[in-house]
Amino acid sequence: MARNENPLISIVLPVYNEEAGIQHTIEILENYVASQPEEYEILFVDDGCVDRSAAMIQEAEQQYDNIRLVQFSRNFGHQIAITAGIRYASGDAVVVMDADLQDPPSVIPAMVKQWQDGYDVVYGKRLQRDGESWFKKFSASAFYRILHRLANIDIPLDTGDFRLMDRRVVNVLAKMDEPDPFVRGMVSWVGFKQTAVEYERDERTAGTTKYPLSKMLHLSMNGITSFSDVPLKLVNVIGAIVIAIGLVYGFISLFTGFATLQFAIVSMFELFGISLLMVGIVSAYLYRIFETSRERPLYVVAKTSGFKHPRQHQPQ
Ligand code: UDP
Ligand code: MG
Repeated sequence: MARNENPLISIVLPVYNEEAGIQHTIEILENYVASQPEEYEILFVDDGCVDRSAAMIQEAEQQYDNIRLVQFSRNFGHQIAITAGIRYASGDAVVVMDADLQDPPSVIPAMVKQWQDGYDVVYGKRLQRDGESWFKKFSASAFYRILHRLANIDIPLDTGDFRLMDRRVVNVLAKMDEPDPFVRGMVSWVGFKQTAVEYERDERTAGTTKYPLSKMLHLSMNGITSFSDVPLKLVNVIGAIVIAIGLVYGFISLFTGFATLQFAIVSMFELFGISLLMVGIVSAYLYRIFETSRERPLYVVAKTSGFKHPRQHQPQ
């Protein structure tokens, strides 16, 4: 199936305090798109930057007419910024990538090729992660494997948000209004024909990671609570195991008279801890329901600029 002859491709980049590298990113991207046969728009989402990133993007807007900018009223987070970018993009295909050039633009032609060949989602699969701590590599790898086991849909291993999506997929995503979205899981959920291109993930060109451990944990929890009910089932299993242990010990102490105060105290602490952990698991799901029930918009847009044409895809 051949796609549109003269496609427009949107590149969506979430930006949070990237003044150290954003100019370089713009230059590299503009050089890249100038060398390609397809038409491109480059859409930045300013996720509440408190540095000069937004001003720098606006300066570039004067120079290049393919740059668009959506500015949030505050920092809403990477996944929400991606969601907004996808909603504002008007391309026949949309590529999502980091603003720090860790996802190399040189991989895009391979993605476009697969798209032209009929795939609806082409995700980047990381072969190697340069310049990241062993802890980040280990925790990311462990997370993807755990999620892969737990999730009730097939979320590919070692893929971030660097991917190309066809308009059909984008239109579905744009309507999904989940709070705390886990975009890569949602893309898997949408389905259609999906494939991977492998790439080496580079070091950040400038600046530092905007993903501290706390944000990574938050993202992982969102991934699990929105795509798996295994932890909830685990609550039952652990409850059953604890009851069984209690019964066995009860019988043993009944017949042998073996019971110590220390043991009773230790078990009390253990069981209370286990119960609290179980309540924690349930609460994580409960919080998702609470967030959904509030029906707040996912983000607040303060300003947009650089949009030259009336858009067919009206964002919220
Ligand atoms: N980012 C964002 N909002 C945030 C945190 C990050 O828009 O709250 C952007 C950031 O500017 C970058 C991308 O999301 O373009 C990925 O973040 P980062 O490179 O810091 O993550 P890492 O690659 O270290 O996992
Ligand atoms: Mg990065």
